[in-house]
Order: sequence, then structure tokens, then C-alpha cells
Amino acid sequence: MSAEVKPRRGSVATTSRDAAVGRAAEAAHPSSGAAPSKEKRPFLLDFFPLEGPDQTRLSRFYERLREGRLSTTRCPHDGERHWPPRTACPKCHSEELEWFDLPETGTIYAFSAVLGGAPLGLEEGVPFAVGLVDLDGDALRLFGRIEGKPWTELTIGGHVRVEPFDLADGRVFYRFRTVD
Ligand SMILES: [Zn+2]
Repeated sequence: MSAEVKPRRGSVATTSRDAAVGRAAEAAHPSSGAAPSKEKRPFLLDFFPLEGPDQTRLSRFYERLREGRLSTTRCPHDGERHWPPRTACPKCHSEELEWFDLPETGTIYAFSAVLGGAPLGLEEGVPFAVGLVDLDGDALRLFGRIEGKPWTELTIGGHVRVEPFDLADGRVFYRFRTVD
């Protein structure tokens, strides 16, 4: 399409935006001169690759997780609680959010077991359990891996606690562990 002096509604704006997106993608992933990635897992299958303060405005989530605290954000203006944590309140758009700790224990609402065909990077430990956990005293229902008892011994309503854990590459994340 040749350049037009007079912008046409829709098409020109879209082209301009696509160009900007292309430049951003090029900046993030230079196509020349980049050293081969040392990541063991394909980037697209890793949903939480960035944890540092120079990489994400949600780095406090990971910092607090290292302290053993699963936490999220709350808007002091309207009381809106968020999950996952946010950088801006979706209700009033304020960026003055505060962090608060979530309960450390919960009960299993539902679970399933991965017996085979585990996602790339998760082959170790098969079979393992994943499930939905209702946090005690909170309306939040979280998804995560459930460690502790074998999956054959898990029960709906079984008690678990939040367990932060260190990944081999230096990052931190959370899972659940059964408690008796
Ligand atoms: Zn708000």
C-alpha cells in the first residue's frame, strides 16, 4: 500500500501501531548478534520469566515470596483486591496500590494428577498433582502444584499450606503442600 497524506480511519492507524509493535519486538529480541539462549525451557512455555525490579513492576510479589509471604495488591481508594497482583487498579486506574499478605493455608477444592505427557520442563516428578485451593478466610481460589501426599491420597477439602520454593535458575514461585 502506498503512503497516503490524508490518514484514513482505521487502516493507517493500524499500520502505524503494527510498525511500533515490530520495533518493540526487534528491541526485545534482536535478530542479529544475539548470543544463543541458555534458557533450558522455551520462552513461550514459561509464563513467569521476569522477577527483578528492573524487569517487572510486580517484583515486590517475588521479593515477598522469598520472605515466605504470598501477597497481592489492594487499592486504598476503593478497597478493590486484585489477583494476580496489579500495577494499576482495574476499577479506578490508580497506581497507588498497597501490598498485603494472603492466608498461608487453604483447602483443596479440586485436584487432578499429571500421569504422563507433562508440559516441557515439568517431566521430573511425574506423576504429580495440581489443583485449585481455597485460601482459608479468603474468597480467593488459587491454582498450583500440590506436593506432600501422593495424588492417590489427596482428598477434596484436604488441608494444604502455601509453600514458596526456589527454582534452579534463581527464581522463586509458590506451590502447595499437604498438612495433616
Ligand atoms: Zn481502585
